[in-house]
Amino acid sequence: MGLLSLGTPLPWDQAKKYADHVRTQGIEQLIHIYNNTKGKHGDVLLWGDEVEYMVITLDDADKKARLSLRQAEILADLAKLEEQGLLKEADVTFHPEYGRYMLESTPATPYTGNPVDLLNVQRNMAKRRQIAKEHLRDNEIPLTITSSPILGTPGQFTEPYYPPTGAASRSLFLPDEIINPHARFPTLTANIRMRRGSKVAVNVPIFFDKNVPKPFIDPTINFDRDLYPEDANAKDGAALPDHIYMDSMGFGMGCSCLQLTFQATNINEARNLYDQLATISPIMLALTAASPAYRGYLSDQDTRWNVIAGSVDDRTEVERGLKPPPADLKTDNSDFVIPKSRYDSIDSYLAINDPVLRGAESHYNDSKLVVNNKVLARLHEAGFDELLAKHFAHLFIRDPIVIFKELLEQDNEKESDHFENIQSTNWQTMRFKPPPPGSSIGWRVEFRPMEVQFTDFENASFSIFIVLVTRVILSYNLNFYLPISKVDENMKVAHHRNAILEEKFWFRTNVFREGAEHSANGDTAGNANGESNGSASDAAANHGNYEQLTINEIINGSSTGFPGLIPIVRQYLQNVNVDTETLCTLEKHLSLVSKRASGELKSNATWIREFVRSHPAYKFDSVVSPEIHYDLIKAIEKLTNGEGWNTDSASILKGF
Ligand code: ADP
Ligand code: MG
Ligand code: MG
Ligand code: MG
Ligand code: MG
Ligand code: MG
Repeated sequence: MGLLSLGTPLPWDQAKKYADHVRTQGIEQLIHIYNNTKGKHGDVLLWGDEVEYMVITLDDADKKARLSLRQAEILADLAKLEEQGLLKEADVTFHPEYGRYMLESTPATPYTGNPVDLLNVQRNMAKRRQIAKEHLRDNEIPLTITSSPILGTPGQFTEPYYPPTGAASRSLFLPDEIINPHARFPTLTANIRMRRGSKVAVNVPIFFDKNVPKPFIDPTINFDRDLYPEDANAKDGAALPDHIYMDSMGFGMGCSCLQLTFQATNINEARNLYDQLATISPIMLALTAASPAYRGYLSDQDTRWNVIAGSVDDRTEVERGLKPPPADLKTDNSDFVIPKSRYDSIDSYLAINDPVLRGAESHYNDSKLVVNNKVLARLHEAGFDELLAKHFAHLFIRDPIVIFKELLEQDNEKESDHFENIQSTNWQTMRFKPPPPGSSIGWRVEFRPMEVQFTDFENASFSIFIVLVTRVILSYNLNFYLPISKVDENMKVAHHRNAILEEKFWFRTNVFREGAEHSANGDTAGNANGESNGSASDAAANHGNYEQLTINEIINGSSTGFPGLIPIVRQYLQNVNVDTETLCTLEKHLSLVSKRASGELKSNATWIREFVRSHPAYKFDSVVSPEIHYDLIKAIEKLTNGEGWNTDSASILKGF
């Protein structure tokens, strides 16, 4: 199980003094890893998912559903199974998460590239949920919902109850007791607030249902509280009218998601997958939309991403461009202003060997990249190529937020904690993961945008779909490149209410490269160095070839050009050796993805919104009351248990 290192985290006024130390040593650690593994080749596909749960306590007598804060006890119980080897035997494992009502689970060993392994995905997810359930109380359930609709509402929303106070977050809404008590998490929370110079401020537009007053001034905000100096933030303008205001890390890091990690053959294949999947990220964020409600209200958006981005935004006012830098401010960064939160979409492409990217690098990497100049110079000196050096020099503009005193001095040839300190607190849509020192693990990429779905079937479907997308990217050497600025635009649009059906996204339409064989043989992906096929000339030729498409056109194909991701995947499956049973199961999963994109099946977000709006107690004021919330949770529990719908592709019920 993912154990957290124990130690003494430094408060911000001390931690900041070691920021340069951590960056400098972290880069030396990266250079050692790179030198030892840059030539590593021939690693096979291994992959795995991460599913995050919220544990909910049902009070059937009182008709209340609350967030259970028993993570530590539940994990302690599961650790006993682990000690007996039972989790390994079941091929599951559990990890702690930020929210004290959350659990994370992954398979104990990664899946392989064998198509038959895809049949295990749903089974493994179901087993994890079952084992989690067996370690809960009778009135507790593990649900995979992306955002809790009641987190931070007035009254009791946790079990047990705590008043909304606490020195770490100083939130008007969340008690510090919702934070995983391991020292790392309250320190993260407090240090982000300290570094930023105020509480974080997230404002999600309210859904203007017919009885929401205009302007909407949230009556549940205690603007006059005077417990901490930061209490004034809300009335000083942090809480915007017409928005749902959230002031604490827990609102974002307390969301659940579905992530996938893939091992590549070598570093170049990992760089290729990183780039190609980055362009797919906003599409999958929109397609998996599952989070329409926050802090007791329906919002006017369907996905969580900007809530998390805002909830860990530790940039100062100068870095956010709100204030000119003081005359004596020193920084190693190429600019004082940092355009994005450390939790955001990626900022630059990596695949230097790709002729399309190489032929028009500034066209695709078209967004200003703030880098740490000292780190950049050191990486150049160590022989990193420009794109790789810039990638890490960009991640290293950030400060380490949590530093454990006991980990300050490390053996840079054998350890990587300083590197990981910065790397793993850059929470972007994609993460480029170098091999851990001293392990046999290869270069990996993590796909991070997706929202978690109610059922294991859906989570398996989206996981399998992305696995197959990686296979067609490599086998057909597909080219999804778009200027980064267009990917950023797509990320914004992906939040919009009902974006699946009502919005268009920039997407490349000629994804097949000129002169590339469209063979389904995995070996055509590149030569032994992982270099892509295709000539530099198609870079210039392909510039203008992106259009705004609907999600349906991107997933299922457009009559005017783009064949669609699912048809490409289906063609691939016909060309590889897959037995009929496997094919049949895969088709059920692809069918779910396809029907979500076409609108034949509703997204989780739409389903939640419609459930709330059709509840007899709903007053069309966008309020998700405790009573509505209880019924919503009960209804989601039923779906989770397979009631009310059927995973058979022929009979997936219309309502879901
Ligand atoms: P993190 O929290 O850093 O993203 P986790 O350990 O929670 O990482 O999840 C990593 C996922 O990667 C798991 O699903 C695991 O099965 C999978 N995995 C483990 N080893 C490999 C590997 N060598 N290549 C690809 N995926 C792997
Ligand atoms: Mg982790
Ligand atoms: Mg994890
Ligand atoms: Mg997690
Ligand atoms: Mg308290
Ligand atoms: Mg992860």
